Amino acid sequence: MTTSWECPACGGAPTTDVVVREMMFGRDEEFTYSECVECASLWLRDVPDDLSAYYPTDYYSIDVDPERALGRPGVRQFATLVSRSVLFGRRRLAGLAARVVRMRQFHSFLIVLDSLAFAGLPRGRDSRVLDVGCGSGVLVYALGLAGVRTSVGVDPFAPTDRDLDSGARVVRRDLSEVEGTFDLVTFHHSFEHVPDPAESLVQAKRLLAPGGRILVRMPTVSSAAYDEYGTDWVQLDAPRHLTVFSRAGMDVLAGRHGLKIVGALDDSTGFQFWGSEQVRRGIPLMDERSVLRSPGGSTFSRAELDAWAQRAAELNRAGRGDQTAWLLECL
Ligand SMILES: [Zn+2]
Repeated sequence: MTTSWECPACGGAPTTDVVVREMMFGRDEEFTYSECVECASLWLRDVPDDLSAYYPTDYYSIDVDPERALGRPGVRQFATLVSRSVLFGRRRLAGLAARVVRMRQFHSFLIVLDSLAFAGLPRGRDSRVLDVGCGSGVLVYALGLAGVRTSVGVDPFAPTDRDLDSGARVVRRDLSEVEGTFDLVTFHHSFEHVPDPAESLVQAKRLLAPGGRILVRMPTVSSAAYDEYGTDWVQLDAPRHLTVFSRAGMDVLAGRHGLKIVGALDDSTGFQFWGSEQVRRGIPLMDERSVLRSPGGSTFSRAELDAWAQRAAELNRAGRGDQTAWLLECL
């Protein structure tokens, strides 16, 4: 066990203890987070030696094989057109599809593509993109489909090094071992999992081409959902989330490492509500009764889920969503 008494974001001291239950699998374990006196970020105070025990082999980001999920006949062409529409087109096709397709995974996929459009691909299809904590590589696979020529995913827990049939590549290693130059380095809900966020940021910066950018998407405590649900807020996700940044904490961390935040886009979803309501009711995320497992058979009605999605959109516009995409550039 490693105990940390210093805020990973700003170096501040701990104040309040926040005790959070493990609620993805419902393991009946509690973990203590410290709240920073300066920036109000939270960090897991006592990090277990073997965190891999909390990432079972069916962990959702590793589980989905990109070639099977997006590469199969029928889906491949659709995924290609949607990806191109968002990244290089006018998003019309993606917008139409979003109205018709209700599948949660499709909407998550669109949010990720939209964040890349927000970050910008400075050299178009010649842009070099590195996705850190890529899991099985669904995103880099989609970038390959869209025609991005250099699309690499890195993840120390990827099953193996792999060349995907869309032209993208996944490498199983630590970020510190990656070589090359990239126009965009992305962390899609991986930054809150890394043991040393400052070091990850430094490593990402090392790989940037001149004018390159870093995109960090992750949950934030500076949100209506955390204010409302407290320790039942689903995106605390103890003990997998090691640091849950405040907006102020992210500002300070960037500045300490020669980076500046040039944009932020909230992209929270109804998950913050149905997920947190489930935690309140003692229903783990992976439970059979969870919206994640049985969207039609959960405790919540379609109308409730729709209302939560709408409220999330309003919070995003107000900058109070429970997750944000931060865009960083070198100072
Ligand atoms: Zn702090």
